[in-house]
Amino acid sequence: MPIEAQILQAVYDTSLDAIIVIDQKGLMRSYNKIAEKLFHYSAKEILGQNIKMLMPPYFAEKHDGYLERYLRTGERRIIGIGRVVTGQRKDGSTFPLELSIGEARIGDERLFAGFIRDLTDRQQMEQRVHELQEELVHASRLASLGEITSMVAHEVNQPLSASGTYLEVARELLVSEREDRLAGGLKAIEQAAAQIRRVGETVRRIREFARKKTPDLAFEDINRIIEEANAIAAVGTKAKNIRTMFDLSALHPRTRVDRIQIQQVVMNLVRNAMDAMTDHERRELVLQSRINEAGEIEISVLDSGPGISEAAAKRLFTPFMTTKKDGTGLGLAICRSIVEAHGGRLWHEKSPLGGAAFKFTLPANTGSDVKPHASI
Ligand code: ADP
Repeated sequence: MPIEAQILQAVYDTSLDAIIVIDQKGLMRSYNKIAEKLFHYSAKEILGQNIKMLMPPYFAEKHDGYLERYLRTGERRIIGIGRVVTGQRKDGSTFPLELSIGEARIGDERLFAGFIRDLTDRQQMEQRVHELQEELVHASRLASLGEITSMVAHEVNQPLSASGTYLEVARELLVSEREDRLAGGLKAIEQAAAQIRRVGETVRRIREFARKKTPDLAFEDINRIIEEANAIAAVGTKAKNIRTMFDLSALHPRTRVDRIQIQQVVMNLVRNAMDAMTDHERRELVLQSRINEAGEIEISVLDSGPGISEAAAKRLFTPFMTTKKDGTGLGLAICRSIVEAHGGRLWHEKSPLGGAAFKFTLPANTGSDVKPHASI
C-alpha cells in the first residue's frame, strides 16, 4: 500500500467521527469502526446496502430523490454545509447527530463521504450544544425569564403585602364604627389602592420588557424547522432509546415566522414529550406537519407517555405550573404566547400512541400585521 493510502487508512480507523462512504446510488462502500458503534450494525452486514437504513423512515424514503436531484442539478442542500439531523440505530431507536458530507471523484465515480458525530452524550458535546442553544437563544431567554421572575416576585410582593396591611388596618378602624376613626380607615384604603396601582404599573413594565425583542420574520420551511428542533431537543436528554418518527407534509409548507421562536416551541414540546416518557417502557415520538382543512399549517408532537390527567389539563398553560423537580412551568405558557403572536393556536389532545398530543397551527401565508413577541 502506498504511504498516502496507509496514512488515510490510519486516519479512517482512528477518527473520532464515524465515516461512511456511499456511491452515487446511495450504497455504502465503506463504514468505519466508530460507525459500527453508533449504528450497532457491523461493517460486514451493512456494506453494499443503501444508506437509507440508517435514517428514520421519512428521510429514508426521500434520500434517493435527494441524491438524484443533487447529481442532476448540483444544487447543494447539505454537501459541504453540514447539519444536525436524526439517525436510526439497528434497534430502531433514533439519536441526534451532526453530519457533514464531502464529495470525491475517483475515476468516473462520484463518492460521498459522510462524517458523523453523535450528539447524544452531553459531556463530549458540551461545546457544540452550547453553540446550538445559543443560536436558539433558548438558554438566554430562560435566563431573562428567571430574572423577570425574581423581579416580579420582589416588585409585586412588597406592594401586595403592604396593601394587605393597609386593608387590615382599615378594617380594624372601620369595624369600630367610631366617627373619629373613619377618616383613618378611608386613608388606609386609599394607601392600599395606591400600592395595588403600583403592582399594575410593575406588571405593565414587565410586559413591555418582554415585548421588546424584535421579531425576525422570514419565509421558512416548516419541515426543516421541525427536523432541526427535534435533533437539538434530543441533545443531552435523559430519556434514551426513543424512537422518533417523522410524518412531514410533502407540500413543504413555508410561511412567515420567526424561525428561532418557532424552533423554540417545537423544542419545548419535544423536550416535554421526552421527559414524560423517561420512566415509560414504550418511547415513541411522532412529529407531524400537514395542511389542515382550514388551510393552515398544523404541527403535531405525539408521544406514548402517560398523557395528561384531567386535573393537570386545567392548569397546563398557567405559568409556573410544573410537575418536574427542575421545571420552570413556563414552557407551555411561552409556547402558547409565541404561537398566538404568530396568529395560530396551540392545544393538546389524547395521542393515538397512548400519551399526549400537542398541536399548533400557523397561518399558511401570513399577512404583514403579525408581530411575534416573547411575553409570558
Ligand atoms: P416544565 O416543562 O418546565 O414543567 P411546561 O409549561 O413546559 O413546563 O410544562 C408544564 C407541565 O405540563 C409539565 O411539568 C408536565 O407535568 C406537563 N406536560 C407537558 N407536556 C407533557 C406531555 N407531553 N406529557 C405529559 N405531561 C406533560
